[in-house]
Amino acid sequence: IWEEACKQLKGILSGDIYDRWIAVIQCLDINGRTMRLAVANDFYKDWLEENYFPMIRKAVMVVSGEEMDITLEVDSSAFDSNKEEQPEPEPQPSLSIPNPFEKKKTNHNLNPNYTFDSYVVGSANQFAHAASMAAANSPSRTYNPLFIYGGVGLGKTHLMQAIGNHIISKKPRAKVCYITCETFTNEYIEALQNNNVSNFRKKYRKIDMLMIDDIQFLDGKQRLQEEFFHTFNTLFESHKQIVLTSDRTPSEMAGLAPRLISRFEWGLVTELGKPDVETRTAILRKKAELLNLNINHELLDYLAQRVSSNVRSLEGALIRVATFMSLTNQQVDIQKVEELLHDLLDKESAAAISVDLIQRTVAEHFDLRPQDLTGKKRSKDIAWPRQIAMHLSRTMTSQSYPVIGEQFCRNHATILYAHDQVSEKSKDNRNLQQTLSILKDKVNKNAAKAL
Ligand code: ADP
Ligand code: MG
Repeated sequence: IWEEACKQLKGILSGDIYDRWIAVIQCLDINGRTMRLAVANDFYKDWLEENYFPMIRKAVMVVSGEEMDITLEVDSSAFDSNKEEQPEPEPQPSLSIPNPFEKKKTNHNLNPNYTFDSYVVGSANQFAHAASMAAANSPSRTYNPLFIYGGVGLGKTHLMQAIGNHIISKKPRAKVCYITCETFTNEYIEALQNNNVSNFRKKYRKIDMLMIDDIQFLDGKQRLQEEFFHTFNTLFESHKQIVLTSDRTPSEMAGLAPRLISRFEWGLVTELGKPDVETRTAILRKKAELLNLNINHELLDYLAQRVSSNVRSLEGALIRVATFMSLTNQQVDIQKVEELLHDLLDKESAAAISVDLIQRTVAEHFDLRPQDLTGKKRSKDIAWPRQIAMHLSRTMTSQSYPVIGEQFCRNHATILYAHDQVSEKSKDNRNLQQTLSILKDKVNKNAAKAL
């Protein structure tokens, strides 16, 4: 079945995409109506699930004639048996969409696509960008270390590598080292196992610039911190630039030795925030241009409006739309985009619904002030809307009772009680059902406005 399904997929996907994403999947077994597929690592799994899973499901259904439960697992051992080094296929010119995440590896580990040129500057990242430019132009003489932090998918890795690429472009022989903290950790562990720590030290202490990505990975790892502390000092003392990224500030790393925290704060700690809608639009236009995509601006503006959580999702949305267009050879309209991206868009709107937003919406509806809902007054005209707001907070957000409680200045039991009360009453009260549905609509509308 799987082989047949692959043939189907080969028919609809461009050769390039097929080879890269489908040919790498192994079918572990088929048992009745369940099919277990495996890929070599998380990267493939995430990417496939996010982009090609519906297509795979459909192809399997076409072939088998019935809907099957398909699971995708990471199983590197399934790939060991045929690990004969395969020569890299010659890159062929193709009309398909290049995958921007593809890493054309150089010896510095840098992705050549991650440059300052391809980085869009907006209000949320202009400071981090300026600091990175400064570090790239005069390493170790401005901010050392440069510590960039921010949420997932907001451009930390891109910005960091842009520094490296900039330096390499000016001084091709500079010893620039980019490494994820995870790889750094693994190398260290391997060195320990092989009694090779002195080589490990030498390697990292004689470079010109060290960039460690996702340094939060050090959190709680004492021995590694000890090792890194000395590497840091050696490099710092010989005026080598150090750049670090993290998903949180140094002081927010609870398991980090105080002396490392203080060193991380010696230079500059700068934040990458969520881009505003103008920046998101500019990013999409830039990506569309880089990928040579012919998508109309109205559509790009729509995507920028709707996908606000992070740049990676934004980029994923663009690629999904572009893949669809290249598969079907047709332009798409906003309705089609909504259909294609409904899972992603739902997630985006859900993320925009907060307890605070619900409180404001409910207060407005009942002509109260938001403070009334969190205050102490117990008169019925306030207590009832308050319970409704608690109920909606529980049903419309993914927050727990205690967290919702905090935002109402109550304990979790009060929220639980309110939630039950409202659910119970609404069972045979048409009026209440209607009120709730009107309120939900309003909350959704306000959330969409807030995006
Ligand atoms: P992080 O390391 O913070 O998780 P990445 O650097 O991997 O995020 O960024 C995710 C994707 O978003 C990358 O493909 C990157 O090129 C893109 N990206 C993020 N910010 C920008 C920006 N300001 N301009 C252009 N592309 C961006
Ligand atoms: Mg990253």
